[in-house]
Amino acid sequence: MLDELKKGLAHFKSITYKKHEKLYRDLEHTQDPHTLFIACSDSRVSPEILIDSDPGEVFTIRNIANTVPSYETSHNDITTVSSIEYAIDVLKVEEVIICGHSNCGGCAAVLNGWGHLTDLPYTQSYLKPLETVKEKIEKLNAFKDDETKARLMEQRNVVEQVNHLKSFPGIQEKLETGQLEIEGWYFDIKSGSVSVYDEDNDTFCRVDDERGKV
Ligand SMILES: [Zn+2]
Repeated sequence: MLDELKKGLAHFKSITYKKHEKLYRDLEHTQDPHTLFIACSDSRVSPEILIDSDPGEVFTIRNIANTVPSYETSHNDITTVSSIEYAIDVLKVEEVIICGHSNCGGCAAVLNGWGHLTDLPYTQSYLKPLETVKEKIEKLNAFKDDETKARLMEQRNVVEQVNHLKSFPGIQEKLETGQLEIEGWYFDIKSGSVSVYDEDNDTFCRVDDERGKV
């Protein structure tokens, strides 16, 4: 497999880098990304591919189940919080996307019991805060089928993480003064479609393909 990775490097240098050579040279000493994209570490969810972006456009944070701690519990995930702080205060991104996805293993582990994760103490501890999302799903959707519950868990998790992000005073201030926008997205792997959270109607709306690049 390492040989395959090196073939990828060679392809990058001769094709992809070549295509963006000027851009890479311009970016040598600076970056000015417009967006902070927080996504799951899942290998099927690649922010740059999803939004068809060029190098330098997107600052990314990826972790299991695309989580953000609340302001009160920020000390629990200093890696994520410090990356957010840098993106907002130094890079001054204009928008933040928190993107969940279908068939999320992290969400499924919380929803269906820890199962094979009982031997993964770090993962279990990390995902513990998602129990509150699970409780909401179980309470409101006790009679729904497993697939529906899984989707609701993944989508409600996005809303929960957006709310966590909004709980930071500095971010709240930027939202109020129009310096920042935050959106929750949900990527359906099988169809390749992305839905965006509509706060007014408390629902995810599919982004119409005709609207072009989202
Ligand atoms: Zn995931």
